[in-house]
Amino acid sequence: MKNRVAHHVKKLQPSGIRRFFDLAANMEGVISLGVGEPDFVTSWGVREACITSLQNGYTSYTANAGLLELRNGISQYLEKQFDVTYSASTDIIVTVGASQALDLAIRAIVDPGDEVIVIEPSFVSYAPLIELVGGRAVKVGADAKNGFTVDMEDLENAITPNTKAILLCFPNNPTGTMLSKEELFEISLLIEKYDLLVLSDEIYAELCFDASFTSFATLPGMKERTILISGFSKGFAMTGWRLGFVAGPTDIVEAMLKIHQYAMMCASTMAQYGAIEALKNGRNDIEDMKRSYRRRRNYFVSSLNEIGLPCHVPGGAFYAFPSVKQTGLSSQEFAEKLLLEEKVAVVPGDVFGKSGEGYIRCSYASSMEQLQEAIKRMERFVKNYR
Ligand code: PMP
Repeated sequence: MKNRVAHHVKKLQPSGIRRFFDLAANMEGVISLGVGEPDFVTSWGVREACITSLQNGYTSYTANAGLLELRNGISQYLEKQFDVTYSASTDIIVTVGASQALDLAIRAIVDPGDEVIVIEPSFVSYAPLIELVGGRAVKVGADAKNGFTVDMEDLENAITPNTKAILLCFPNNPTGTMLSKEELFEISLLIEKYDLLVLSDEIYAELCFDASFTSFATLPGMKERTILISGFSKGFAMTGWRLGFVAGPTDIVEAMLKIHQYAMMCASTMAQYGAIEALKNGRNDIEDMKRSYRRRRNYFVSSLNEIGLPCHVPGGAFYAFPSVKQTGLSSQEFAEKLLLEEKVAVVPGDVFGKSGEGYIRCSYASSMEQLQEAIKRMERFVKNYR
């Protein structure tokens, strides 16, 4: 049989991150700064709540949108932490990670030919998810000179009559950059002016180190235009639980729920019981983890600058995105040689989009000892290329 795999899938490129994981997996003594996940184990109370749910025999499906108790918890959490109000019964869906929330949101709003603006460097999934539904990901390079913030003129120039939405993610993966409330407000003016929607990936909202987080829906007129995507993976250290959520205008959430009930039915029941507990009693643990990331960020970013890898101070998430241009190596060459010669795994910046070329992503969600050793090795490596 010809064409066993559909054309639109054949066209997709595999994620550039994988190649480095595969290389590193076959080597010993590698320090990995490559993985984008917390180095904490999920709080014991959360794990215990999950175990208790199993002991109680809660092993059947939940409502499609998720346990009402969890949606109530999410609704209260969003209101308390981020000052946004969503109805648990009509505006929130519990999803399989923020990943599924993104997929649902894109599938619900993008028709073939629609354009979604993605600010690059960006999380690797955005463009492929948009392209899988026949949409076009229009890439706008972030402003590297200003710590990878958004140049409003560039953003406005990318808007066409086909633009349906702008996808935002600040704190950003891979740059760690945060936008100020004023910058977000300027973006909201464009949203209003051109009658657009916003996909706001707020998965790193809990990990802001220097300023408080502004949820995009809190800006004037934006609640009706914003699809808020978030989850438990990063702030709550629950990547493997695969639990996220989406909150948004009722009509769009209804559309997403239609897809969700056919494609997924519901998120994992036991994970949902864990998440209820995470929202009830997880605050102290989040604050502890945040303090720990902040300490490591301060050490790691200042060390990168000292060893000759210039890096802006990332306001959030757990990534540093230093420049490697002064070594004369491309991002790919730098990452590959660093892995082979010094056994430090990082991700070449170009996998996050063209504007990431000349940079590498280092996750500092690693122990202080590992970070210190990584810096030692990187310093030795960089010296050879001065
Ligand atoms: N958005 C961004 C920006 C991310 O970095 C990630 C995870 N790397 C996700 C979404 C997906 O998170 P989840 O584990 O909740 O699917």
